[in-house]
Amino acid sequence: MSMNMGGRARDALKTRRRFMERLRGLGVNDPKVLKAFATVPRHLFMSEALRDRAYKETPIPIGEGQTISAPGVVANMTMALELTGTERVLEIGTGSGYQAAILGLLASHVVSIERIPKLATRARSALDQFGITNVTLFLGDGTLGRPDLAPYDRIVVTAGGPEVPRVLLDQLAPDGMLVGPFGPRRAQKLTRYWRGKKAGSFRREVIGECDFVDLIGQNGWRG
Ligand code: SAH
Repeated sequence: MSMNMGGRARDALKTRRRFMERLRGLGVNDPKVLKAFATVPRHLFMSEALRDRAYKETPIPIGEGQTISAPGVVANMTMALELTGTERVLEIGTGSGYQAAILGLLASHVVSIERIPKLATRARSALDQFGITNVTLFLGDGTLGRPDLAPYDRIVVTAGGPEVPRVLLDQLAPDGMLVGPFGPRRAQKLTRYWRGKKAGSFRREVIGECDFVDLIGQNGWRG
């Protein structure tokens, strides 16, 4: 048996190392977030034909006209959530399940909603393959949230809507926070909303410009 690492394993290690360097270069400096990105095999969440692009800074089609955001976008959005490990998180737009897996490592429990059945099924099997057990998936219109399981400490909307759905803000716990892209198609503002202690009080902060796929539903764009 040779003591040398096989070419493939060495390439995989190099790819991952470059992936982490790129994320750091994009301002991802939270060690816990970086560790989560090092732990989740991103290629598991995409079709085999596209796996050679898994660790590049590019969005990738996941079928049904949807895309998974570039890793730097997912990482910066995850950082904005300021997770400590104890939070209950609601994600709108499961897509591939990749961000749900990342959130699962950084929070206590994740509820994620997807509207396209095929994507939800694929995401479930990728999450099972990865072996994560604290992510619950639901099929349905995420713009309605899941009031029966509220309140949530964090809500992350991973598709772009015209404005923040009020029903989602209402499902936040006191001091809870929602992050998502809102505004016109192709040019949303990544926005963060903090819930105050007083009923109905929110603080809003724009943290960047972005271009996400459409949030389609009763409180989003009409499909
Ligand atoms: N977080 C995902 C990103 C996928 S893209 C990932 O890591 O892969 C956004 C997803 O939001 C798409 O799969 C799209 O079908 C879904 N989506 C759009 N509107 C939705 C809605 N109202 N409810 C639930 N999912 C929605």
